Amino acid sequence: MEAIVSLAKRRGFVFQSSEIYGGYNGFFDFGPLGIELKKNIRDCWWDDMVRRRDDVVGIETSIIMHPKVWEASGHVGGFTDPLVDCKVSKQRFRADQLFFAAVVVDDTTHGYVSALESEDTTADLQAAAEKVKRKQALQGTLAPVIAQEFTEATPEQIPLIPSPATGEPGSLTPPRDFNMMFDTNVGALRDGSSKSYLRPETAQGMFVDFKNVVDTGRVKLPFGIAQIGKSFRNEITPRNFIFRSREFEQMEMEYFIHEDADWETAHKDWIQWCWDWLVSIGLPESHLSLFDHEKAKLAFYSRGTTDIMFKYPFGVQELWGIAARGNYDLTQHANASGKPQEIFDEETKKKFVPHVIEPAVGVDRIFLAVLAAAYAEEEVTDDKGKTDIRTVLRLSPRIAPVKVAVLPLLKKKEELTTRAKALYKKLQRRYACFYDETGAIGRRYRRQDEIGTPWCVTIDFETIEGEGDTFTLRERDSMAQRRVTEQELLALLDEQVY
Ligand code: ATP
Repeated sequence: MEAIVSLAKRRGFVFQSSEIYGGYNGFFDFGPLGIELKKNIRDCWWDDMVRRRDDVVGIETSIIMHPKVWEASGHVGGFTDPLVDCKVSKQRFRADQLFFAAVVVDDTTHGYVSALESEDTTADLQAAAEKVKRKQALQGTLAPVIAQEFTEATPEQIPLIPSPATGEPGSLTPPRDFNMMFDTNVGALRDGSSKSYLRPETAQGMFVDFKNVVDTGRVKLPFGIAQIGKSFRNEITPRNFIFRSREFEQMEMEYFIHEDADWETAHKDWIQWCWDWLVSIGLPESHLSLFDHEKAKLAFYSRGTTDIMFKYPFGVQELWGIAARGNYDLTQHANASGKPQEIFDEETKKKFVPHVIEPAVGVDRIFLAVLAAAYAEEEVTDDKGKTDIRTVLRLSPRIAPVKVAVLPLLKKKEELTTRAKALYKKLQRRYACFYDETGAIGRRYRRQDEIGTPWCVTIDFETIEGEGDTFTLRERDSMAQRRVTEQELLALLDEQVY
């Protein structure tokens, strides 16, 4: 993870927000290469989800919506995380990310240990329990710890559980609900009547505009409405770089189906679609898995939620949630607005509220996943037998920030640079390219490897002296080189960059 964060900073992918003021926790900026990568992720999703499907349309709704939207959706009342305060350190934790365990030696409890969620929380708690045993010079056998979420702690246990900040018990408060929506005021008055919210998800925009799309969009069931946009959540503990931030970008789609449709099949189909899409932008299947949420823990209206999980460097975590939400959202908005959110069934001549399947994913989480999966340091041997470590980002050509680098072999040879610039100008009309004429060619290749450029094209003496105007095409992953014509290069790009 450290290597990825460092590369992200060094090569201009991601910076801390407001860095010159010490940064701002939970907010990030995307640099020149980062914004290209992010844009490519968004564009691939939009093209595949909206433009290349006949049953999905796109919209863009405002970030600040009528506050009644968030009352009807349940966010004002219930978009909360359980918050725990440490009264001594003034730090705050999410109770469902804070774990504790009893230290049990020969069937007797000798206090508690705590740990924040990590790749192996149980191992952390076990190590802490062993430390307690040593410190208190307890004789006997330490039982294996049983990790419990802080949300499950009893009022008697809470004062005995040490704060992860201080290591001492007695300072943690019982968990309380903390609403994660950022609020703001709209208009000149700053009182209760002007209170509004930054959206915590883009999805409600699709529900609120459902009727507008049905009346104007020439859509018929089943169909989807998709949107990409910023969302804001006042996360208690933003962490793991851009994985959990307070301002992030979502790509969500609401797929409306008939009330009598087989929702399980629709749900499964969308899980498969999302999985295949992730693979199409280069995520290895070995890093992906599915997690079905327990029925008992779902909201009452939810029929099922499956998450596509990704093996991040800090553990397996949610990347994409695919939820079957029944007709809850449209019904809520119909009730709250007094405007029916129904569709007319030509066959049965009846009106009904459609049900919905919702695949919801964060652009930033995909961004981090592709960087993590693509990053490699490998030993390479040059022609002279010298070994070296090269850093390479094996990004899919679909999302790589730079698709091709154009390199004249020698800067001082005008024939080479003229031909290279002409090619560069031509490629630039369709692809993100990079022109680089400084430094040894090997070093220029390495610079491109590090930012994930799939191909380098070198304009060399054979280009200008040989027959057929050919270039050296050097592939990032295999480092293999071959000669290609301009036509062949364009055909390759056309096939691989879509
Ligand atoms: P988590 O349980 O990790 O907080 P969630 O289940 O609340 O996530 P959803 O409300 O389902 O997330 O949001 C849909 C998607 O939006 C998530 O799958 C994730 O990709 C992204 N997302 C949610 N919260 C954040 C965040 N704080 N930072 C970055 N991306 C996020």
